[in-house]
Amino acid sequence: MRRMFLISSLMLLAVMSCSERQREDRVVERLLSQLTLEEKIGMVHANTMFSSGGVERLGIPSLKYTDGPHGVRWESVDNGWKSLEWGNDACTYLPALSALTATWNRDLARQYGEVLGEECKARGKHVNLAPGVNINRTVLNGRTWEYMSEDPYISAEMAVPYIQGVQSKGVASCVKHFALNSQAWHQYTISSEVDDRTMHEIYMPAFEAAICRAGAMAVMPAYNKVRGKWCSESRWLLDTLLRGELGFDGLVVSDWNGVHNTVETALAGTDVEMGTAIKENGLYAFDKYYFANPLLEKIKDGTVPESVLDEKVRNILRLMHRLDLIGAEPYDTTGMASRLATPAHVEVARKVAEESVVLLKNDCFLPLNPNQYNRIAVIGANADQVFAHGGGSTKLKAKYEVTPLQGLKNLLGPDVVIDYAPGYKLRNKQYVAAYHKFTDEFDMSWPEMVEEAVQKAAAADLVIYVGGLTHEHGMDCEGYDRPDMKLPYRQDELISAVMEANPNTVVVLMAGSPVELGEWHESARALVNCSFIGMEGGNVLADVLFGNVNPSGKLTTTWSMKLSDMPDHAIGEYPGADEKVHFNEGIMVGYRYFDTYGVVPMYEFGYGLSYTDFEYSDLEMEPVWKDGSRYKLSFKVTNIGEVKGKESAQVYVRQNESSAVRPYKELKGFDKVELLPGETKQVTVYLDRRSLSWYDAQKKAWVAEDGMYSVFVGASSRDVRLNGGFEYINH
Ligand code: BGC
Repeated sequence: MRRMFLISSLMLLAVMSCSERQREDRVVERLLSQLTLEEKIGMVHANTMFSSGGVERLGIPSLKYTDGPHGVRWESVDNGWKSLEWGNDACTYLPALSALTATWNRDLARQYGEVLGEECKARGKHVNLAPGVNINRTVLNGRTWEYMSEDPYISAEMAVPYIQGVQSKGVASCVKHFALNSQAWHQYTISSEVDDRTMHEIYMPAFEAAICRAGAMAVMPAYNKVRGKWCSESRWLLDTLLRGELGFDGLVVSDWNGVHNTVETALAGTDVEMGTAIKENGLYAFDKYYFANPLLEKIKDGTVPESVLDEKVRNILRLMHRLDLIGAEPYDTTGMASRLATPAHVEVARKVAEESVVLLKNDCFLPLNPNQYNRIAVIGANADQVFAHGGGSTKLKAKYEVTPLQGLKNLLGPDVVIDYAPGYKLRNKQYVAAYHKFTDEFDMSWPEMVEEAVQKAAAADLVIYVGGLTHEHGMDCEGYDRPDMKLPYRQDELISAVMEANPNTVVVLMAGSPVELGEWHESARALVNCSFIGMEGGNVLADVLFGNVNPSGKLTTTWSMKLSDMPDHAIGEYPGADEKVHFNEGIMVGYRYFDTYGVVPMYEFGYGLSYTDFEYSDLEMEPVWKDGSRYKLSFKVTNIGEVKGKESAQVYVRQNESSAVRPYKELKGFDKVELLPGETKQVTVYLDRRSLSWYDAQKKAWVAEDGMYSVFVGASSRDVRLNGGFEYINH
């Protein structure tokens, strides 16, 4: 016996009561009936780079958008991208979304969202263009660091509190990029080809959760095509899936320059066109946008029914009503600077950074004792870099940013000599996007720079290497894929040389995407990874290395031994050909592939060490029928080490026998607990029917089959500490 159940598209509606909904409809319809055709047209396209039109006489404001995921972008000119160079718009630079997700801490995601919401409001913005919840299909994608994970469950779990946090402050979240935006290579023309099951199991759940659970008020279609149509004009994506299956009734705002025609896009679900590069005399010609005069003409000549435009305007008005914008004063931006990067906001940035650092390897070397070292060599260009202003559309003006070098100086004070050598020069490689390759040109001073680094390393008691990736083109940067997974700038050679000169070396790799590790890795005494971790990043890294903070971050994207081990390369397709990329690996993305196909990764999904140890015990499972058929799983985690620590305990589920091909196991629950030495806490996780289900594309439904299910509780996807199982029978 098998039971099917549909995605509950009614969930969102459940957030609003019936009478609220009716009141909203009345307000929207009343306004709509008073708008002229021209006024409606004015609302569905940009009138500046970051706003779309309003109608003053009816109290309908111009809608103001801003990036982005980890801070509020600086104020720029109305027509173009140039900064207005305001002195009061420097904001909190939060760690990137990849770092936030590595905390595995939902409370922090909520606080992160609240900070963003408050700062958007302080800046007078209505819609925050974030979070990006695309799944990391290929780790070469230059936006990997901007996204959350290779796993839909953790992406959803972290996106929901993030969005709730933003929206609790009266600012709309625009979840993006819907959908299948998994590479930068030919991203404006490539069509992502994916089957229905994979779409539902891997690429949609985070959007589904954002909309149905968090009530995200806006969605941004991706740049790429799906099934041959640009996302902004795809009826399958926007009408069948988004508006239909997910019941989304909010605003669909195009990506900047993501609209390519008038009629098809108008007839699909896109409501507002932004950022199109239609220019006159070097300026953006907003009234020539596809949804401006051309749409007006198409409505007048009957090609596009006016009702289509009305529906778009309804979606805009609905969002405005939900934010209480209609007839309201603009958001109060007086004293803006004092409401940005407040001590409380900076504290959130710091807490997120602290919990995002992942300790990958530790040969009893960390934490370091500050009293043990008089002379420390800091090597690597990232030690002396700031990152807030880079990466693409996420770039922002941070109130300040502490570099790793400065963080070490702040912590260690003047008595410890810190000798810095970059070892290589940034921007000495030319990334040739058209060929998707770095040129071989190399800075002539490289040998001298390595020599300097080696000498400083040899003369020191300790070496702290801080390298990795940057936001330069072809690294962790929007618009480009990485050419490979290796560390750029011959860092493998540099690290080896430095380690040879002084084995007391800690390697810190700042990288928001997995990297392939060189031979030095075998003998490295300690290896730490972090993404781009915000304005307090340098202080936090120093605190982690010297034990003031016990690391508790865990990877949310698998680090493979080599690129060819990644599923998109091994059994899938990358970067595709003839303007198509087939997602042939299907549901076998990330650890699902590694586990099912028995491929050993370098560092697995969910992995991360601590300065203490945790023991897992007492797994219990009981069905709970009261509020639907759910399984309550509880187990204990004990800190058996000497220092306080935090552990993200993970629950994976496997269907032992299925009529469909299923991954070996899938993440379906987690919780993070803080434990004093010797302390034990009980962790409880609920599994519902959906946690057991797969998507049956024939039946267009989620299916939970009767039978045996295994449960794996562990410290990572491969470090399973407790096993259990149960029989599921549909009731
Ligand atoms: C990005 C979006 C961003 C938009 C506005 C585009 O390049 O893909 O994520 O929100 O620019 O800056």
